[in-house]
Amino acid sequence: MIGVSVPESQHDIAREFFQLCKTPWQFWKADQEYQIVICTGDAVVSAKTQLLIAYGGHSEHSSTEGKKSSLASRSYISYRDCRIPIYGECSSFEGSSADVAFKEANGESSVRATRIEGKTTVEIGYNLFAEVGHLLGPGQPDDCATCPTIELHISLLREIITRAGFPFVEIPPSPEGFSFSVCLTHDVDHPVLRNHFFDLTMAGFLYRATLGAARAYLRRRISLKRLWRNWEAAGRLPFIYAKLSDDFWHDFERYREIEGKKPSTFFVIPQRGVPGRQKTGSAPRKRGCKYSLSEIKAALERITAGGSEVAVHGIDAWLDTESGLLEQAELAKIRGANYRGIRMHWLYFDEQSPSKLDAAGFCYDSSLGYNNTVGYRSGTTQVFQPLRTQKLLEIPLHVMDTALFYPDYLNLSEKDAHTVVTTLIRNASRFGGVLTVNWHDRSIAPERLWDEFYRELLEELHAAGAWFATAAQVAGWFQMRRSATFEKVEYGSNEVTVRVRLSVIDSTLPHPKIRIYKPCKIDASQPFAAAGELEFTDSPLTSAIDSTINL
Ligand SMILES: [Zn+2]
Repeated sequence: MIGVSVPESQHDIAREFFQLCKTPWQFWKADQEYQIVICTGDAVVSAKTQLLIAYGGHSEHSSTEGKKSSLASRSYISYRDCRIPIYGECSSFEGSSADVAFKEANGESSVRATRIEGKTTVEIGYNLFAEVGHLLGPGQPDDCATCPTIELHISLLREIITRAGFPFVEIPPSPEGFSFSVCLTHDVDHPVLRNHFFDLTMAGFLYRATLGAARAYLRRRISLKRLWRNWEAAGRLPFIYAKLSDDFWHDFERYREIEGKKPSTFFVIPQRGVPGRQKTGSAPRKRGCKYSLSEIKAALERITAGGSEVAVHGIDAWLDTESGLLEQAELAKIRGANYRGIRMHWLYFDEQSPSKLDAAGFCYDSSLGYNNTVGYRSGTTQVFQPLRTQKLLEIPLHVMDTALFYPDYLNLSEKDAHTVVTTLIRNASRFGGVLTVNWHDRSIAPERLWDEFYRELLEELHAAGAWFATAAQVAGWFQMRRSATFEKVEYGSNEVTVRVRLSVIDSTLPHPKIRIYKPCKIDASQPFAAAGELEFTDSPLTSAIDSTINL
């Protein structure tokens, strides 16, 4: 068991961190002995323990000698093949030989370790919980978007514990039998082209389908076939308005054909023509959608009958609880069910939004992502509970089609977009968690025609061993994992005895698993074993485990 000593102001952050790094722990109590103690510089403990890990680079066992601190707006630590951005104070230790992580600015070690009379003390040059509080609060700027920072903090902690000679028990953030989860989502913003008569959307479509497509072809960004599909679509426009031709934007059900048995989640806007509000004043008029739920009701029925989910694409729910309740009710009027999932239209959100959505009864939100780039706004691949909420889970949004391809955003060719997305898939395979993808309703139709890219993306995700699930299923799986409590953990010389129980069980979802990392073999005179790949064993966790697992 790990004892964790942090100031009370960081207790909520520590609780959430150890839901993401799901390992046996408790807040440090003076009358208990722990094999491992984690503390921050602000909460020093004189603990009797075999391994003391002091974040912030302070502990009563350490001196300030050789410690160099900086309060630059951002520092980087190199750790294995990655860079960890540090948003608060970051220190290095002159002369430290610990080969775990290094401050990029001066190349010195960010970790200092000593081993005296069988007790190992490890100082780490930043405050983990301040960093996690920043990531789960304001989040990462665009230029750090592709860094799964929280997962790297977890990996670093795990490596320190195992290299100090201890096993590491955890419930990883991926279901048994899968490397990670995938949440395919579709924001339904423009499901009826016919409703856009002589407006900006129609003008934009006409330009991009004709001159824009010709330019893209000349620059070798699209094929001749795709150019022709666009010109043919533009030529059909008068016939669509005259109701003599099918509306190709009203064909988002084709996602069911493309996705096959992989379920997805469709976020639909509850009120037609309502642009909503910003914090001060009204949102731009064009934020209001031009369709009503009754126009897509039949399609939604067929989509849900096929195993997919419908949820709220919110307008003002991010600002106040009454709007959240109203938006749920509008959808319920049409479809007669309760809707507990939401993503805000245009990703409007602020730091108070999670508690507003929580109070409105939403079980999950999926708005925390970037409009202009892809990656990890909250620094994590995992579903998490935003601070100051009771029940709401956040399914972070990682990849949005428009961010990849729009000229004002990343403006990538499909080849370059593939490279970017492959990096995120690799991260998901390595760290677990969920990869959340938003492909808009009309992105498979002219003029975007990003359907082939999407098909290939699905194939790649499947090949990487992903579990495909709706947003509600992904939230449910993480809820099940969060419900696990470790009732007993004992480390023997060659085995670990563990008793763990799930209090939430959903037999329709894949099981979580228990993973036990083997301790590295250490030389008694050295604080750390040599670096290498960590070995582990997995066991399925159906409802409870009470057993001794050999290492
Ligand atoms: Zn939207």
